[in-house]
Order: sequence, then C-alpha cells, then structure tokens
Amino acid sequence: MKTLLVCFLAALAAGQVLAAANQRPNIVLIFSDDHAYQAISAYGDPRKLLETPNIDRIGREGVRFDRCLVPNSICGPSRAVVLTGKYNHLNGFVNNANSRFDGSQVTFPKLLQKAGYQTAVVGKWHLISDPTGFDFWQVLPGQGIYYNPPMNRLGQTIRVDGYTTDIITDVSLEWLQKRDKSKPFLLMCQHKAPHREWAPALRHLGADGDRVYAEPPTLFDDYAGRGIAVRDQDMSIEKTFTERDAKLVAPGSLTPEQRKVWDAYYEPRNAKFRAANLSGKDLVRWRYQRYMHDYTATLRSVDESVGRILDYLAKEGLADNTVVIYSSDQGFYLGEHGWFDKRWIFEESLRTPLLIRWPGVARAGAVSRDLVSTLDFAETFLDAAGVPVPAEMQGRSLRPILQGRRPADWRTAFYYQYFEWPAPHRVRPHYGVVTDRYKLVHFFGTADDYWELYDREKDPHELRDVLRDPAYAATKADLEKELARLRRELKVPEVIPPQWLGNQGAGGKKKAKQKQDNG
Ligand code: CA
Repeated sequence: MKTLLVCFLAALAAGQVLAAANQRPNIVLIFSDDHAYQAISAYGDPRKLLETPNIDRIGREGVRFDRCLVPNSICGPSRAVVLTGKYNHLNGFVNNANSRFDGSQVTFPKLLQKAGYQTAVVGKWHLISDPTGFDFWQVLPGQGIYYNPPMNRLGQTIRVDGYTTDIITDVSLEWLQKRDKSKPFLLMCQHKAPHREWAPALRHLGADGDRVYAEPPTLFDDYAGRGIAVRDQDMSIEKTFTERDAKLVAPGSLTPEQRKVWDAYYEPRNAKFRAANLSGKDLVRWRYQRYMHDYTATLRSVDESVGRILDYLAKEGLADNTVVIYSSDQGFYLGEHGWFDKRWIFEESLRTPLLIRWPGVARAGAVSRDLVSTLDFAETFLDAAGVPVPAEMQGRSLRPILQGRRPADWRTAFYYQYFEWPAPHRVRPHYGVVTDRYKLVHFFGTADDYWELYDREKDPHELRDVLRDPAYAATKADLEKELARLRRELKVPEVIPPQWLGNQGAGGKKKAKQKQDNG
C-alpha cells in the first residue's frame, strides 16, 4: 500500500513537472534607458556607485552576462534591434534623427501575440510610430519626462501625475493584475530612467548622504594616442554638460509642491557651488559628483520597480514559469574619458547590462562572458514560447548559454555600427568588429576617414590605437577578414546612404538643435 502511494505521488510529481515544462513561460522584459553596467552592484564596479539588490537578485537566481553587446549604441535604433532581431540597416531605424519605425514589419511581440500570448508595453518607446503587436500599450511620447508625464495610452494622450519610473511600474502591475489569466503573457516594462537629465524621485534626493564618489581613472583623458573622433566629440562633462544637467535649473514639469522639495535639496547645495566659483578641473569634479548623485538616485527607483515586479510574480505563484530579463538599450559613460552619453564602439557604451532569470533553464548564479547581444533577445523569447524563429532574424536564442551548453559555433566576433552625425554629440559614424580581445574600427562618412585597432587585454581603457604597430599586423589582417565576412553575412550595404547619417546637410543645423537631447 505504502509503495503504491509512493508510486502514485512520484507519478503525480512527474506529471506536474511535465505540465510545468509544457506550459509556455511568461516573459517580463524590464528595459531601462542608458543604464551603465558600472551602476549595477552585481557587476562590481570598483567605485561602488550604488547597491541594486533587486536587479542583482535576477542575476543571483539566474545568469549574469558580462559581455552583452549592442549593434548600435543609441536609443531608438537599439530598441528596433530588440523588436526585430535584426540590424538597423535591415529594420530601417538607423538613427534618432530621421528614422521612423515601420510597424508593419515582423517583430517578436507580434509573433508571440499570434501564438496566443497577451502582450503589453509600458513606458519608453521612442520609435516615432505607434506600437504594433501589443494588446495594451501606454508609452511616453518621444524621450518622455521625469515628472507628471504626458503618455499615449492606446492612441489617447493622457497626463499622469507622479514620478515616471513609479508610474511605469504601477501601470505594468495593473495590467498584470487585469490580464486574462488563461493565457501566457509578454510584458515589456521600459523605463525612461536613468536617461538624461537624470532627474531623481523626490524621495531619493540626498539618499546618498552627500557621499563623495570615486573618479574613474580616465576622467581627465587627454585623448592622446587616438584619432580626431575622440577629441572632437561633444559629450564631455567639461564642455557639454548643461545647467539643466547639473540641476542648476529645475525641470518645468514639477508642481509647486514638488518644486519645494526639489529646491530644499538642490538650492543650498547650488548656492554653495555658485559661491565657490569653480573652474577648470575643479568644475569638472563638481559636475561629476552632481552627475553621479543624480544618475544613481534615478536608479534607486528603477531597482525598487524591479523589486515590486519580482514580488508580484512571487506572490501570484508566477515566478517559476516566468522569464525575467533586466537590460538596457545600451551602456553609458559615467565619467570615463571625461564623458557622459554613449554611441561609441568603446566598451562602456557597447556593453549593456543583461541578467536573465529563467527557472529550470538558466543556471542560478552563473556568469557568462560569451559574446551575446540585444540582437539575441527576440530569438530567445520566441524559443521560450516555442515559436519558430523567422530566418530573417540575425541573432540566436540564448537558451543553450543559459543552460551552460555554449554551442561550438557560437559567435566569436561581433559587428557594430553607428551612423548619426554630426549632432547631437559629434560622434563620427563608425563601424567595426569586436572580439573577446580586439576591436578594429573604421571611422567613415566625414573628411576624417581612418581606422583604429585596440587591444583590450593590454589596454583595458582603450587609450592606445595600435593599428600601425607591426606587432599587430597579423591580428589586423585576421580582423579585416572577420569584418568582411560579418558584413557579407549580415547584409550590410557597401555604401551607406547619406540620409542614414541623419542631421548633416542643408537645414541640418536647425534640426540638430531641436534634437539636442535625443538618444
Ligand atoms: Ca538609451
């Protein structure tokens, strides 16, 4: 009798496991804007900029990816890559200056919807055309603002009171609560934070106790040993940082009550700053401290948001059958090379954070250094849902990597491209090939057409171009071959259409000014 009972229980348990295995998992993508991996405690930046316990938890219970690369380090184009699983030269959203997302093309949310998933996107969208492939959407127009934002809810413009990160979380949770519980779901919870101008929730002003942040070793980079592009940019804390960036001017969308709280924090500190009359390196140092305070403070809300979503999944018994992904549309400079912003093939902007919890698939607490990409997200989600991946998609499901079974033919070289020129931020168009150790870069599309080669093993901060060093001749030849192969394989056009470079040409200056804060 006892044996029978044990057999029965074992069969029941096996049946449950099988049922769970057959049940298509829910997918929650929490996607922030401009979140540098340096500002996630799980990534262990020596500056210890802030603690992100909830984001870290995804990595602890899943896999942390240390080399997730973006095909184009800028907002709109990066989002288009995630949706389509294709490079920008094929999905058509090549820059933030004059691109508009063609919502009639194949995207993973559309395919999931067709396969019976309920789909929703809340928050940052930034693709100009309205979202398609979603049962529900409530998105910020353009870049969105941090306080009391207008939002577009299924085609209707509404104004929502509060702090944008909290609103995006509230609306996401409300949708989860009201969803049809008989169907699996896809939720894309997409934050504006920590995008410029890094405006914190009022409750987090001063949360760092006026600590002094360590400076990155390249805060005062002199750009020696490299070409004109790094010298001629317009994204430095020294030259490009505005009064709004520095919170010497308050955002216009605060209510009078909110403004009081804002002023109570910033005004005494700003008065001290004005009295000190800083210049040169001292001014850069002051701005860097203010930047780190504000940037990390916006992330306190993002981390809280992640915690609220994880708690909801646990409380509803959904955690075991939900894939949770935390990532950002690209990396960001937190003072490295004297910069803020992104766009470059260099590590801080090329690499984006990625943590994936997928119970039963992702090995808990594992770390992957494989070359993966936001290009792989669509394929991974389709794979999770058991939906065939269209041949036109260019990435690959991360499932085997999550399981610790990297396929023998996994990519060892990655293709990068950036087009937008000259405004904003004057980063010259470039493309290149990235491997575990090297980067071969071609700056093109301007009078300054040249190549550079970096060896990250010997030069982790990427401060020395070794293209002409004879010791690298064989490496250079190998990389050139890899680059040509990748460009063929990925169907990159030989000649880049001039309009892809965005703002240049007649009327470009005016348009560039209007688009000053794009990205
Ligand atoms: Ca971005």
